[in-house]
Amino acid sequence: MNVAIIGCGVVGAAIAYELSQVPGIKITVFDRQPPAQASTGAALGVLVGIISQKVKGKAWQMRQTSVQRYETLIPELEAITGRTIPFNRQGILSLCLEAENSELWEKLVAIRHSQGWELEIWDTAKLQQICPQVNHPQVTGAVYSPQDRQLDPTALTLALVEAAQHHGVTFQFGVTVLSLPTTAATKCTSVETTAGKITADWIIISAGLGSTALTAQLEQKIDIRPVLGQALQLRLGHLQGNPDFQPAITGNDVHIVPIGGGDYWIGATVEFPSNGDEILPNHELLASVKQQAISFCPELASAEIIRTWSGLRPRPEGRPAPVIGELPGFSNILLATGHYRNGVLLAPATAMAIREKIISQ
Ligand SMILES: Cc1cc2nc3c(=O)[nH]c(=O)nc-3n(C[C@H](O)[C@H](O)[C@H](O)COP(=O)(O)OP(=O)(O)OC[C@H]3O[C@@H](n4cnc5c(N)ncnc54)[C@H](O)[C@@H]3O)c2cc1C
Repeated sequence: MNVAIIGCGVVGAAIAYELSQVPGIKITVFDRQPPAQASTGAALGVLVGIISQKVKGKAWQMRQTSVQRYETLIPELEAITGRTIPFNRQGILSLCLEAENSELWEKLVAIRHSQGWELEIWDTAKLQQICPQVNHPQVTGAVYSPQDRQLDPTALTLALVEAAQHHGVTFQFGVTVLSLPTTAATKCTSVETTAGKITADWIIISAGLGSTALTAQLEQKIDIRPVLGQALQLRLGHLQGNPDFQPAITGNDVHIVPIGGGDYWIGATVEFPSNGDEILPNHELLASVKQQAISFCPELASAEIIRTWSGLRPRPEGRPAPVIGELPGFSNILLATGHYRNGVLLAPATAMAIREKIISQ
């Protein structure tokens, strides 16, 4: 059986690796760029799972599946590839601001406990004792999620690619998929690329923002729109707070992500297009994200900005993210796209869902 995967961000790479473990499948992955360049290359890798407000249905199930799978996936990939994937196992600390509804958090803690997960509410005294770097007059406490994680999305994607290659998957980078010619009304049996045509029994569209054009050609347009995110890397030169406890900290939707060696990723802005699909980065918004990080952790004021970057998140228009399942009207085209703000978190669960679809047919 031949499977063609279009797009090698974290989602396409996770699918390739997951399917590479199913015997009898020949897999080819196409990307017009090298791996992990588009949205994946800009992501902060904060895996908002247990601490997310999703408590039921598919949105929660996918988060839970991914959180569980990451615990085995990272050591598995490191063993196959010999690479190290930076994976912060010290949890996520979400700062509570005066304005926030504390009842909501208490309810979430009770639900997570009933689901078998840990989640703790800290008062300001506990926060001060455990995370002395946080010092903000409006922070009234925090919620600590010890089982949530953060990882380096590029390192993860490159490891997924290498592990999949190890299992026989072919990758064609610098190759654009131009069209998906249809032979029968409900089937597409080949993939037309800038490097020629290949036949395929299954086609998986994990092309992020490129998914719109590919599906539009098939008259089943899945409208994926860009939402810009800007982020920056600060160099403090030493670790803030307790060097042995460096969780990812989040407050008012701003992440402060320790990446080791006294460097921190800070982000990200959420900027919608105002004119068609064009979005010009708003520098004031990035400055405000940095300012908020400093207001939570004042020591960061003395840090130096060593890098700023931006990326476009693939957001499905008019429907919930992500979009996973058959392309309407086609029995052998699967969509794995539109992961918007949580593609890194949801990549393992997405890959498992795609694998189920293929092996159950
Ligand atoms: C600043 C920022 C911070 C973020 N932080 C987080 C976070 O903390 N946690 C989290 O879970 N998520 C985060 N995200 C979201 C996350 O980055 C995305 O949800 C995720 O990367 C989507 O992965 P993907 O593989 O679907 O898409 P992409 O990474 O965009 O990959 C799609 C690929 O398809 C290729 N492609 C498209 N069309 C074609 C074609 N016709 N032929 C060949 N190749 C094609 C592209 O070249 C690209 O490589 C963040 C995003 C941004 C921008």
